[in-house]
Amino acid sequence: MSHDHAACMAPSLKAAENLGAKLTPLRRRVLEIVLAGHTPMGAYDVLATLARDGGKPAPPTVYRALDFLQAQGLVHRIDSRNAFVACFAPERSHQSRFFLCRACGRASEIEDAALDAALAAAAKRAGLTVERETIEITGVCAECASSHGPAA
Ligand SMILES: [Zn+2]
Ligand SMILES: [Zn+2]
Ligand SMILES: [Zn+2]
Repeated sequence: MSHDHAACMAPSLKAAENLGAKLTPLRRRVLEIVLAGHTPMGAYDVLATLARDGGKPAPPTVYRALDFLQAQGLVHRIDSRNAFVACFAPERSHQSRFFLCRACGRASEIEDAALDAALAAAAKRAGLTVERETIEITGVCAECASSHGPAA
């Protein structure tokens, strides 16, 4: 890990603590699993990790835990991969838009107030009441680009 991942996780763990009793042991464990990295995980990856823990929750239980965490803003769904990634800034509400690295799989949230404003204005011009938004941009992250040299 080339960065201080404990620092990445801190705001999410704090937000999770604030849920109190709603954060059941299973929900907490699912969150920990997704928080462990920046790569989106499918529900079956989460199930496989839980199985290594010795538990054997049914897939619907894990889906419900992921739905709960998503509703709380603690995880985001990556539609193109049918997977989930932890939110590392759950303390403020935001749209989740992602840059995805096709080499290492890493997902990072696009934080850009100008983009928020431009999309809101474009939707307004189009007369669209936005209900759901999926913005996922795939490429090669800076770390992968430098470790493999410049792209040919
Ligand atoms: Zn991190
Ligand atoms: Zn987020
Ligand atoms: Zn990468």
